[in-house]
Amino acid sequence: MPGNEFFAQKLEAMKAAGSLRVFPIVQSEQGGHFTVDGGAYLNLCSNNYVGLAAHPRVKQAAQEAIEKYGVGTTSVRALIGTNPLHLELEASLARFKHTEDAVVFTSGYLANLAAIQTVVGRGDIVISDELNHASIIDAVALAKVDRKVIYAHNDTAGLRAKFPEIRALQETPKADGSRPVTVIVTDGVFSMDGDLAPLPELLEIAKELDAFLIVDDAHGEGVVGDHGRGAIDHFGLHGHENIIEVGTLSKAFGVVGGFVTGPKSLAEFLRQKARQFLFTNALSIPDTAALIESVKILEESDALVKTLWANAAILKEGLRAAGFDTGRSETPITPVMVGEESVARAFAKELKAEGVLVTPIVFPMVAQGAARIRLIPSAAHTPEDMRFAVDKITAVGRRLNVLSP
Ligand SMILES: *Cc1c(COP(=O)(O)O)cnc(C)c1O
Repeated sequence: MPGNEFFAQKLEAMKAAGSLRVFPIVQSEQGGHFTVDGGAYLNLCSNNYVGLAAHPRVKQAAQEAIEKYGVGTTSVRALIGTNPLHLELEASLARFKHTEDAVVFTSGYLANLAAIQTVVGRGDIVISDELNHASIIDAVALAKVDRKVIYAHNDTAGLRAKFPEIRALQETPKADGSRPVTVIVTDGVFSMDGDLAPLPELLEIAKELDAFLIVDDAHGEGVVGDHGRGAIDHFGLHGHENIIEVGTLSKAFGVVGGFVTGPKSLAEFLRQKARQFLFTNALSIPDTAALIESVKILEESDALVKTLWANAAILKEGLRAAGFDTGRSETPITPVMVGEESVARAFAKELKAEGVLVTPIVFPMVAQGAARIRLIPSAAHTPEDMRFAVDKITAVGRRLNVLSP
């Protein structure tokens, strides 16, 4: 079959099923307000939690680094692609996270692949929350892990009930006769609901099972914990040598990239072994310099994190007072539960017409019947922005009978 026809048929089928995506084009900086497809909107859909994506200091740092070093690194880190800025960024991330060392990657997705594929393989055991991010699921598949235990979301009692099954797997040697490695892996903050993983209990379980605990903190960094140090900091769990923390540099840090942080030997082992470090190029010069500045801004002051939470409080309290169900969120991520998929889509569409851009979240991102719109406030917003959003969401909610009229 001719290639063009082959793919065109697949796209037609997706179109018929209503699963074809359209990609909005952002024509301005990412801020509290932005321009999308020619229209100006209040931005409640970016992961720009503390407003660093277009922060003047971050932009300037990138520009200065370009003048000094150029743009590209033209090689993998292990050959001739390591710049002093990469080492500075890794050191500053380790300092920020209160860990011994960190390794940066070109995305959070790759950081998850690296953390998981380097630590476990065939015959090892991965214990995973059912709502973990797609990159964790892909990482487990890539690592060829065949002993998987999935537990119900945040259900540590349910996980404990699986101990006999897990211990039986642990007692079954791998093909080479060795004892399997066990890891528990979870998101730190879950992006669809804004709830936190019960990390203290998971760490306790990890200790009982002699397992590593891998925490993907993509939505926790820059958001929860002192100065936005993340979910580990929020729970005061620093310094445990069996915790492996994965992060993204593409959300609150405002640029692009990912990292793994933990004990020094873990970082060194990843640099030696991770295919996502050895066989793909390093972060670009402007990205790296911008990220060093982002970390510096968060370290210097917690003002942006406080502004984010103050804005989130206005938004959440306003919506709850209006009668909305904001689910189980414990973080600035604010779902507005609407139930039906068609209502979530209509809600987002009507808000867009009112100048507010939000993301409709529908099956398969969440369970059927649990559709919602998701709002992500930012330190780049003003309190007035939040009140404006509450007013518009309330008006649309009444029109669509999500609220009683
Ligand atoms: C966004 C996200 C990632 C991927 O990060 P990128 O830097 O965009 O590749 C990984 N895990 C979770 C939980 C995320 O939300």
